Amino acid sequence: MKILVPVKRVIDSNVKVRVLADGSGVDLGSAKMSMNPFDEISVEEAIRIKEGGEAVEVIVVSIGSAKAEETLRTALAMGADRAILVETDDVVEPLAVAKILKGVAEAEQPGLIIVGKQAIDDDSNQTGQMLAALLECAQATFASGIELVGDAARVTREVDGGLQTIDVKLPAVVTTDLRLNEPRYASLPNIMKAKKKPLDKKSPADFGVSTEPRLKVLKTEEPSGRKAGVKVKSVAELVEKLKTEAGVL
Ligand code: AMP
Repeated sequence: MKILVPVKRVIDSNVKVRVLADGSGVDLGSAKMSMNPFDEISVEEAIRIKEGGEAVEVIVVSIGSAKAEETLRTALAMGADRAILVETDDVVEPLAVAKILKGVAEAEQPGLIIVGKQAIDDDSNQTGQMLAALLECAQATFASGIELVGDAARVTREVDGGLQTIDVKLPAVVTTDLRLNEPRYASLPNIMKAKKKPLDKKSPADFGVSTEPRLKVLKTEEPSGRKAGVKVKSVAELVEKLKTEAGVL
């Protein structure tokens, strides 16, 4: 079985995001970029499944500018076998990403597609669900555990009330939540080896997909500052404030 893992190059999660003066978006000019954290978790999970002998190949795919090659090389250094870069300088919205991924999946025929729960730049949380719908296959979102059982994936999902375990028939799309695993760091020898691993270049047009935007960003602005908190001296005072000031008790 092959496992396909989409990885997105996003602004690093430790960078303080700055809004552009004209409100047209955020300043990516000199910002440090990294692999979307949920995608690191997906790559780690795919590699663990392969190391457990249940997959033969892990293919990573990114849709983005030529610089996304760095992100793919990081995934290859972690242990993925092969990469596909679908190169475009356009901002690609989740539906177009899902359509491109559908094309990649049809060409590669993976048994499992492990997608991040959300990209931390647009926070859409849409691509995995759209991809499963387009492929007309099963999906399990927000996985905190994945176990392969026969021709199904047994997925533990983080839901509002706690944990839910479901079996989805393969091929399936699974989206990853934070507690699924702790991604490994790539070792220096593996970073060197990753430079020689195969990386195919494609374009959205190769999959017949237009990247023309369907959404319009009206304005981007900083969140309003938080009000300062207060320290209370006792539990009794806390309860009193929750009752009288916050009105939550
Ligand atoms: P989103 O729906 O935008 O929050 O993204 C959810 C997940 O879809 C990400 O964690 C990635 O696994 C995948 N994804 C989104 N955009 C891209 C992209 N440009 N290239 C590769 N994967 C992507």
